[in-house]
This record gives sequence, structure tokens and C-alpha cells, in this order.
Amino acid sequence: QDVVNKIAAGEIIVAPVHALKELIENAVDAGSTALEVVVKDGGLKLLQITDNGHGIDKEDLAILCERFTTSKLKAFEDLTSIGTYGFRGEALASISHIAHLSVTTRTKESSCAWRAHYADGKLVSPKPGQSAGPKPIAGRPGTQITVEDLFFNVPSRRRAFRSPSEEYAKILELVGKYAVHCSGVSFSCKKQGDSTIGVSVPIAAGTVDRIRQVHGSSVANELVNFKAENERWGFKCEGWISNANYHAKRTTLLLFINHRAVESVAIKKAIEQTYATFLPKGGHPFIYLSLDIDPQRVDVNVHPTKREVHFLNEDEIIAIVCDEIRDSLGKVDTSRSF
Ligand code: ADP
Ligand code: MG
Repeated sequence: QDVVNKIAAGEIIVAPVHALKELIENAVDAGSTALEVVVKDGGLKLLQITDNGHGIDKEDLAILCERFTTSKLKAFEDLTSIGTYGFRGEALASISHIAHLSVTTRTKESSCAWRAHYADGKLVSPKPGQSAGPKPIAGRPGTQITVEDLFFNVPSRRRAFRSPSEEYAKILELVGKYAVHCSGVSFSCKKQGDSTIGVSVPIAAGTVDRIRQVHGSSVANELVNFKAENERWGFKCEGWISNANYHAKRTTLLLFINHRAVESVAIKKAIEQTYATFLPKGGHPFIYLSLDIDPQRVDVNVHPTKREVHFLNEDEIIAIVCDEIRDSLGKVDTSRSF
């Protein structure tokens, strides 16, 4: 059974950045307005995320890391109208099978914080001779999740990581994505013991400001806004794309569907093609696109990692989005650059 759990966990989490994505989404789901990430060795030694969200009740800590423990799915009907990011209750369980996991959390109602340690889905004692239950500890409201020694018991997976700096780069990219998307939340991410902060985005009102914080002014100064909405295909979207004064060597796509960072090869290709008609000399766009699609039309179950997403009427929706992009880009004066 443990082997099965470990394999299942390894399918959901194949790199530190995947664990972090789940933890960020949990923190955002918990209504946090500030989120701090600390990393060591590209997340393999340490991934720690501290939020100021609503916290977890002490009573819920015992089953927190059992599979399918979720506070986000009250009834089966919820499955078709998922408002929050998570709903499977598998992330923390998975992480506890392949790492040392500890949780420190305090709700507004609690007079102290509680800390608990987990292994293989269950509460464990931090030291031999100590009991396994949650321990009281001083702490502010919110939750801190600490993941240490990721893949310590999956040597084959651990060997696959050659370079902590590559993993750290992926982590910064992910935190940067959520920092652009989540307008009511401040984000920071840094290496443990390092004084320089990798990503730091305060709560900023405008999307362009947030893009500027993460990606710099050279792109933020050349963005055009686009919006689309269509009742028939059950979607609406808003986004920003670089105009033809900006040409990068590769495409940067920050794609969110129903507020989850996802990948879509189809969307990326279509936007690149649309952009290319405005850049006769070549070059790639920067795009931030937030799509809201009727949850019943999105297939999030395509893969356990939920990264590559498919949805109904993909072609039609993509065509409408690209039409809007074409319209917006067409209005830009690009005589400056050519
Ligand atoms: P899911 O997000 O799919 O519900 P997870 O395994 O990611 O499943 O989390 C399990 C449960 O733990 C969540 O439903 C939530 O109740 C609680 N939880 C996890 N992280 C946090 C957090 N940062 N703040 C508050 N509650 C949390
Ligand atoms: Mg979750």
C-alpha cells in the first residue's frame, strides 16, 4: 500500500515546483494576502511557504494528510462547480509520502499556533519518545508548511535533479506567475539564508505594475490589453500582450484557467501565430492571459498533475481570443521600431 501511495505521489509531484504549486494554491484558497516562500537547494532540501490565511483547526490536523481530505468539496455536486483551486485533497497527502512535512498553523479563534509533523499520510512524533499529536507553539494567524528532503525515499527521482539552480529558476518562474495573477496578494521568494530576494511583489493594484515587478519595464511599457467574452462557449477572458515594439527570443505565456496556472500548447501556438503577423522580422510575445471557463466545460482530470488543460470548444474559444489580440495589436503604433 505504501509503495502504491509513493508511486501515486510521484505522479503528482515530479519536481519541487509541483509541490510548491499545490502549496501556493492552498495558501491562496485560504484567503491569504501575503505569501512568503523560502527555498534551499532548489526546493529539494527545503520548501517553506508561510501565509496569513485563515489557518487550519487543530481538530483537523490529525487527518490533514490522509488522501482525499479536503475542506473544499462539501457535496458531490460541487465537483461540477469548483470555485477553489484544489478539490482532490491529495496534495498534502502526496507530499507526506515523499518528504518530511510539518505544518504550523493558527486560526483567528485559537490563542496559540499548533505544529504537527507527518509521514506517509499520518501524524508522527518529531523526536523519538514524543507523542505524535499537534503541539502548541507561539505563532501568528496563518499557516506555514515546511517540506524537507523531498524525494528522500525515492532515490531514482532525486538522482534526476542535476542542478538545484535549474529547479530554483522554475520555482521563481512559478511564484512570478502567481504574483502577476493574484492582485490582492503580496509574494516573495528567496533562498534560505540569502539576503537577496528572488521575487518580491507587493500588493499592487494594476496587472501592468505586477508584470513590471516580475518581468521589468521593457516589457511592461509595451503591453496592450485585450478582453473577450462569449456566452455560447461559456467563457470570458482578459489579458495583456506585448506589442510589436517588443520582440523576445522565446515566448513567455502566463496562462491561468479558472485561476490555476496551466499549460496549453494549443493556446500558445495560436497566439504565437497571431503575433507573428505583426512581426515580419520575427520575435516572440509576452502574454498574460486569464481565462474563466464554465467549470463544467474544463477537463481538469486529463492528467494528475493538472498542468496541460483541455476544455470544450477549444478551437472556437481560441479563435475568439486571437481575434481580440489581433484587434488590440492592430491599434498599436509600431512606427517607432521599424
Ligand atoms: P485540497 O486543496 O485539494 O483540498 P490539499 O491536500 O491541498 O487538498 O489540502 C488539504 C486541506 O488542507 C485543504 O482542503 C485545506 O482545508 C487544508 N489546507 C492546506 N493548506 C492550507 C493553508 N495554507 N491554509 C489553510 N488550510 C490549508
Ligand atoms: Mg490543494
